[in-house]
Amino acid sequence: MIDRHGRPLDDLRISVTDRCNFRCTYCMPLERYDWIERSEILSFEEIRRVAAVFAQLGVRKVRVTGGEPLLRVDLESLVRMLAEIEGIEDTCLTTNGSLLAPKAEVLKRAGLRRVTVSLDSLRPETFSRMAQRGSLENVLDGIDAALSASLLPLKLNVVVERGVNDTEILDLLEFGRQRGIVVRFIEYMDVGTVNQWSSSKLVSKAEILRRIRQAHPFEPDGHPRGSAPAQRFRLSDGSGVFGVIASVTEPFCGACTRARLTADGRLVTCLFSAQGHDLKRLLRSGGTDEQLRRRIAAIWRSRSDRYSEQRLEAISSGSGYSPLAVQKIEMISLGG
Ligand code: SAM
Ligand code: SF4
Ligand code: SF4
Repeated sequence: MIDRHGRPLDDLRISVTDRCNFRCTYCMPLERYDWIERSEILSFEEIRRVAAVFAQLGVRKVRVTGGEPLLRVDLESLVRMLAEIEGIEDTCLTTNGSLLAPKAEVLKRAGLRRVTVSLDSLRPETFSRMAQRGSLENVLDGIDAALSASLLPLKLNVVVERGVNDTEILDLLEFGRQRGIVVRFIEYMDVGTVNQWSSSKLVSKAEILRRIRQAHPFEPDGHPRGSAPAQRFRLSDGSGVFGVIASVTEPFCGACTRARLTADGRLVTCLFSAQGHDLKRLLRSGGTDEQLRRRIAAIWRSRSDRYSEQRLEAISSGSGYSPLAVQKIEMISLGG
């Protein structure tokens, strides 16, 4: 099944909550939001059912995300339910790591394969400036626990913001190198409507690579990238691998095979969509799996999103790009 640009539906990101115990300035900077009513949040069984229909449509990989997914009580039960779905080969989690330490082993036993932890700084002051809540120590403990539980390969997501943590690129790379962690540097994106994005905060892939090259020679790691958002590089001395996610300067919409399910049961076909397609009504009004399958297939077949490519075209043409001119769903509903 392909969309209007010939892209298959391969993976599903499931946001299990819109709440978060951090307030990262680039994602969810405000104190309060209009939280989704609890009764509107999908139950684990509803999520399992939707994911199973996605698996029938070709999805092989699911990623559990949020908000902060580990805020959801008993997340390991959901992981087990997802890992047992026929056709699902890879079950992963993206987390800020703060609540991971006591859960890593149980998640592994429940069938979780891998974890991506988001960590933008190794300096307590910069960490606090970016995350606004939580403690660096808890995140580092979470990373250690995930390594001990063999949730591998462990990836670290680092959003690089000019003037804030861009001086730490080499330190974070070294942190990953010493532990066998794949650090992925992410260009700061204009997600949502409240993160005050401006191109002056962006550190481009070209600049990230230039800074790394001054200290370490590297080359492309040679593996086909497929639909992965990160371009991967191998340090020439063989001591590690890192990635760059260049969503702004080198968009990869042409290879975007990802669907997103919000915590309140909307199917969203692009990180920058203005709205989603409600699946919950069908789920809760006695709709059959076949009806659900037909609805999802129809949505995917009519998909034509290529927001990041259009943004680059607007920036490059000099016609001016205003991130707020476009209505977008907040990142907390989408889970990155
Ligand atoms: N709370 C979890 C976490 O932080 O890993 C999962 C949800 S979070 C929305 C998923 C990913 O989106 C994180 O790695 C985060 O760094 C990334 N992200 C959020 N806002 C971003 C932005 N403005 N630009 C680039 N990446 C962003
Ligand atoms: Fe929370 Fe993750 Fe967004 Fe940070 S990036 S505010 S941890 S959802
Ligand atoms: Fe996919 Fe939309 Fe991102 Fe393009 S902008 S890569 S279509 S999520």
